[in-house]
Amino acid sequence: MNRFNLWKSVLPTSTLIPWTKQANLVQSKIVKANGPYIYTSTQKIVDFTSGAMVVNLGHNNKYILDSIKEHTKSGISYIPSNMATYQRDKLSDRLLSISKMNVGKVLYGNAGADVNEMACFLSKEYYSYQDKPKNKILTFSNSFHGGSTVGASLLSGDARRVEKEKYYSLPMEPIMENPLMSDSGKSSLQQISDLLTEDVSAVLIEGSSGSAGCILYPEGYLKKLETMCREKDILVICDEVMSGFGRTGEFFAHFKQDIQPDIITCAKGITSGYSQLGAVIINKKVSDVFEYNPVMCGLTYSGHILGSTIANSCLDLYLKNDMAIIKNHKGNVLSLEGERIKNKYDWIKDYRNNGMLGCFEFSLNEEKLGELSENLMLEGIYCMRIRQNIFTAPPLITDDSIIVDTMQRMDRVFEKMDLNFIF
Ligand code: PLP
Repeated sequence: MNRFNLWKSVLPTSTLIPWTKQANLVQSKIVKANGPYIYTSTQKIVDFTSGAMVVNLGHNNKYILDSIKEHTKSGISYIPSNMATYQRDKLSDRLLSISKMNVGKVLYGNAGADVNEMACFLSKEYYSYQDKPKNKILTFSNSFHGGSTVGASLLSGDARRVEKEKYYSLPMEPIMENPLMSDSGKSSLQQISDLLTEDVSAVLIEGSSGSAGCILYPEGYLKKLETMCREKDILVICDEVMSGFGRTGEFFAHFKQDIQPDIITCAKGITSGYSQLGAVIINKKVSDVFEYNPVMCGLTYSGHILGSTIANSCLDLYLKNDMAIIKNHKGNVLSLEGERIKNKYDWIKDYRNNGMLGCFEFSLNEEKLGELSENLMLEGIYCMRIRQNIFTAPPLITDDSIIVDTMQRMDRVFEKMDLNFIF
C-alpha cells in the first residue's frame, strides 16, 4: 500500500466520474460531515472549498436539517410547475427583494448550467417577441457557466467547452477579454465595445470570477460595461452561481460593483448544497414580455418543493441578524495568509481573493499540481483545483483560527514540495 492509499478508496466504482479518465481512478469515500469538516472512515478533512463552492453554511446545519424533517410531514413529494407551492412563491418574493428588483419573476431550474442556458434563451426570446431578433450572447474567455447542457457549455470560455464545440455550434461566444488591474480594465472594455454589435442580445458575466481563477474586476469596471450595454440595448445577465449567497462578503457579488443586471442566475449556495436548485431572477422589463408570450422552456423539477424549502431556510440563516454570517466573513484572513504564503515561493504566481472566494495560481506543470493536491489531501485539506489554480473558499461559518491553521498547514505542504529543478 503506498502512502496515498491512506485517504483513498481504491475500490473500482461503477459510477462514471465527470471530467476525468476512469482507469485507476481513486477517490476519498466520505462517510460524514460537520461544519467545515468532511470525514472518511479514517481521516478528518477540512472542506476548504465548500465542496465546489457550494456549502456556504457548512455541513450538518441543524436548522436546515430540521426544515427538511418538517417538510416531510406534509407528505408532498412533487408538485408540477403548473401548480403553486407556498415555499416556491415565498422564495421567489424573497429572491426578487434581495436582488433589488422587487417586481419581476423567478424561473427555476436544477443547477447552474440549466439556469444559465434558460437565462440566455429568455434574453433571445425577449427581443424576438418584440420583433427585434438578436441571437448572440457574449461571455468572457476562460469563464465557466456550466459543463453539461449544450447551451451552458458553449457559453463557457474554459477548456471544458472544447469537446462540446466539436459536435455543436451556436452563436454563443466566450470572446470578451478579461480585465487587467494594471490598466483598470481599459483595454478589455475597448475590445468588448467593438463586440457589442446589433445582433447581441446579452452579455453574461460573473458577479465575481470563479473557475477562471478569481480574476478581479477593477473598480468601476462592471459599471462601465453595464453602461455600454444599456447604450446599445443589450441585456446584462449576471451569473452568481459561484459568487452569490455571501461568498464575497455581499449577498450577491455584483452589489460591490453597483450594477443592476436584468437577469441574475444562481444555484450552489442557494441551498448551501442540501439539495439541488437553480434560479433565474428576472427584472420586470424582461418578465413583462412573458405576460402575453409563452415561456418556452422549463424542467420537470423546476422549483422542487424540497429545494425551495431548503433555500428558504438558507435565506433565513443568510439574512439573520442583519446578514451577520455574510458581513462577518473572514476574507481578510484569507488575503493576509494568501499574500504571505505567495511571497515565499517563486513558483506561486499569485494569490487573489474576493471575500471568501480565493485561489493560488501556480506556475507548475500538471504532474506537480496533481502531486500538490494529493499532498494537501494527505494533510487533511481539500481544495478544489482547476488547471493551475488551487482554490481557497471555505464555508462562511469557518472560524478564523481554522482558516489560519489550514493556510499554515498548506504552507508546510508547499514547503515540502521538491521543486528546485523547476527553476
Ligand atoms: N456558473 C458558474 C459561475 C459556475 O462556477 C458553475 C459551476 O461551477 C456553473 C455555472 C455551473 O453550475 P452547475 O455545475 O451547478 O451546473
